[in-house]
Amino acid sequence: MSLYDVAVIGSGPGGYVAAIRCAQLGMKTAIIEKYSTLGGTCLNVGCIPSKALLDSSHHYDDAVKHFEDHGIEVPGEIKVNLEKMISRKNNVVDMTTKGINFLMDKNKIDVFEGLGSFKDATHIDIKKIDGTTDTIEAKNTIIATGSKPSTLPFITLDKERVITSTEALQLKEVPKHMLVIGGGVIGLELGQVYKRLGAEVTVIEYMDKIIPGMDGALSKELMKSLKKQKVKFALSHKVKSVERNGDEVTVTADNKKGEEVSFTGDYCLVAVGRHAYTEGLNLEAAGVQLEERGRVAVNEHLQTNVSNIYAIGDVIKGAMLAHKAEEEGTLVAEILAGQKPHIDYNLIPGVVYTWPEVAAVGKTEEQLKEAGVAYKSGSFPMRALGRSRASGDIDGFVKILADKNTDEVLGVHMIGARVADLIAEGVTAMEFRASAEDIARMSHAHPTYAEAVKEAALAATEDRAIHV
Ligand SMILES: Cc1cc2nc3c(=O)[nH]c(=O)nc-3n(C[C@H](O)[C@H](O)[C@H](O)COP(=O)(O)OP(=O)(O)OC[C@H]3O[C@@H](n4cnc5c(N)ncnc54)[C@H](O)[C@@H]3O)c2cc1C
Repeated sequence: MSLYDVAVIGSGPGGYVAAIRCAQLGMKTAIIEKYSTLGGTCLNVGCIPSKALLDSSHHYDDAVKHFEDHGIEVPGEIKVNLEKMISRKNNVVDMTTKGINFLMDKNKIDVFEGLGSFKDATHIDIKKIDGTTDTIEAKNTIIATGSKPSTLPFITLDKERVITSTEALQLKEVPKHMLVIGGGVIGLELGQVYKRLGAEVTVIEYMDKIIPGMDGALSKELMKSLKKQKVKFALSHKVKSVERNGDEVTVTADNKKGEEVSFTGDYCLVAVGRHAYTEGLNLEAAGVQLEERGRVAVNEHLQTNVSNIYAIGDVIKGAMLAHKAEEEGTLVAEILAGQKPHIDYNLIPGVVYTWPEVAAVGKTEEQLKEAGVAYKSGSFPMRALGRSRASGDIDGFVKILADKNTDEVLGVHMIGARVADLIAEGVTAMEFRASAEDIARMSHAHPTYAEAVKEAALAATEDRAIHV
């Protein structure tokens, strides 16, 4: 039986990064993945394929709606070839997951394909697809088994017409009318993909706003922008039933006044969140405890109640984000190597890859108010930037929240073109505990979208933005 310093169960961004960092630090490492491709949710059915479809559908939308403004004439009709678009997305996924195999080889990590399940706290059975079982011994184990889409108790996911994000990445036709239950990140991103491709899209959300966890100003601006793109919204609607009848799906909900309303479409995307996935792990055999929501319980070192077993990523508490899982993978590897790493969870950015993109780090205005922190706020509209006018992407703004007394940046919130990339400046500034004036005094290349960050910082410093 092979003996490892570390076994990692699950090869998503948490698991494969943990394995690489363990190997870099000199540990003999194994990674176990039940599917035939590495990379987990993120690479196979999450971040990467959704961004590939967002990019393809954005090109189509530009061609149909904006080429003409730029003086580009396309002879004949511009058409979507969905099969080709999905096949391109599959190629992107294929290349990316193969990249992980390369990294495993490069770092001399042993890859086991099969379902990992604990025999006891130091032995793991790996049930392979051919029915045979390998057993390995590991001094330490990192559980990185991720999450699966959640649903509502009364919904039957038939995975044909009533679908999750996984099926929405593989559709064979553009829906006529896609009903999206849930106005969070996944529902809005995939809703926008199919809206651009020609579907009518109605988002039905329980809360009174979309992207509920983010700063209220971002939520309002995104909704305004998506409404301009003709996405329909039914906020404060409590879904009660989802019925499929042939090719038709009807969603019934109670609106704010308590009246029953129904929506009919040909597809219903259920995007109501995700839950931790521990099925098949046989945690009882190792004595690992769960917390109340089915997540693996961990302490501040991401250690479970069993001292040689750790857990990271979507399977534990916290934001379900690939980069959060990656940081946790690195943290556990470094703890095992005797180092003293640290993660500042306040500085994990959140991004929505709709267009306009939305990105944020640090505290929201609502959180600062609730905590009674004295703060000041500076905003700058994208439409005032030369770069935005050149590209035509004028929606959105950057808002910087800073401590009223010390000027330290407490939160950076942005919506607009390419803000998914711009947020890194906010993270860097906050990591180094910059003041708004520090950002305001830094030269930002002209013309760039990043100038909005400098201008918002100027506005927060002394209300002295230049270009408004
Ligand atoms: C449509 C969609 C879009 C998303 N977009 C983004 C985005 O743009 N940015 C972002 O940061 N996040 C995004 N996410 C979230 C992101 O995918 C997750 O936060 C991330 O994948 C979590 O990583 P993880 O390593 O914890 O788990 P996962 O990526 O879920 O990987 C877990 C792996 O463990 C394997 N596994 C489970 N049980 C066992 C077992 N017993 N034995 C062996 N293997 C097992 C699974 O097969 C899986 O491969 C998106 C998610 C979805 C669904």
